[in-house]
Parts: sequence; structure tokens; C-alpha cells
Amino acid sequence: MAKVLDIRILGDDILRKKLQEVDPKDPFLKDFIPDLIHTMYIRDGVGLAANQVGVDKRIVVIDPHTADEEKEQNPIVMLNPKILERDGKQIGDEGCISVPYIFAPVVRDKKIVYEYTDLEGKTITKETEGYEAVIIQHELDHLDGIVFTDRLAPLAKLKLKTKLSQMESTAVDGVNIRKD
Ligand SMILES: [Zn+2]
Repeated sequence: MAKVLDIRILGDDILRKKLQEVDPKDPFLKDFIPDLIHTMYIRDGVGLAANQVGVDKRIVVIDPHTADEEKEQNPIVMLNPKILERDGKQIGDEGCISVPYIFAPVVRDKKIVYEYTDLEGKTITKETEGYEAVIIQHELDHLDGIVFTDRLAPLAKLKLKTKLSQMESTAVDGVNIRKD
């Protein structure tokens, strides 16, 4: 049975870390990947990065279709992902389970070409745009210690300043403060 992992909240140092490359043969992945996927679904996320559950490895899981209940779950696990090409701009509201209760608009690249290693060790290259491209950019930022609120326009950032600094000062490392 997959476990629900504790979510790290803004203010936790691991969310600010540039994470380590991961080996697809790492035995740690066997239990961790199902737990990461399970946690993403339990928390109603469309993506989750390893440091959001306290793990210092470049791993992301996404499922852009979870908002649509008609579709089956189809998680995509990416090891050491990177964006190779970017084109155009788009803006949309984002939220993050590590930054609870805050939603704000972020400018992202519209179309991206990206590459990752899958669990079999194969290199996969794909192109996507729109909502899926936003999710990938948001999650890949986590791997470099960036959260979406870092990317807000100055005025939006100013408006959220108090809330964010309160969150950062009350977050306790390793403890999930959002019990719901
Ligand atoms: Zn996030």
C-alpha cells in the first residue's frame, strides 16, 4: 500500500534547495514513486516534486488530467527533467500545496520542449503547451528551489508579502501544518 507523505510548507529549507540528480536504478524509487503519486492524488494536486515531501532528488510526477474526473488517472514520472526550448508567453493563476491557500497569476512560457529520464532509464523528449506546460514549469522550478510566488509581478508579491512571511516563519521543518 502506498503511503501519504507529509507535505513540506513554504519556510522549510528543502523547498529552497537545488536538488540532486537521481539515478533511475536507485532502489529508493521502488517504494517512493508510488507514495509520491498517491500523495499527489490525495492532495488533489496535478503535480508534485520530491522536495515537497522532503526528498532531495530531481523527481517530479504530474497528471494534468486529474481535474477532469471522466478521465482515468495517468501519472507521468520524470527523473532529472529539463526544459530544452521555450516559446511564447501565457498567464494564469497558480497554487501550490506547499503554499496553502494562495492563488495568484504567474507568467509562463506557452510552449515548451522538455526532456526527462523515465523509470526504465530511457530519455524521453516531448513538446507541450498550455496548462500542461504550466504544470511542468511549476514543478521543474521546485527542483531548483523556486516556488511560484517568487515569480509574481511586484505588486502581487507586495500584496501577499505579509501572508507569505507569516507562512515562512511558522512552517516547521518536516511537519505538515495543513491537516485536512
Ligand atoms: Zn508547487
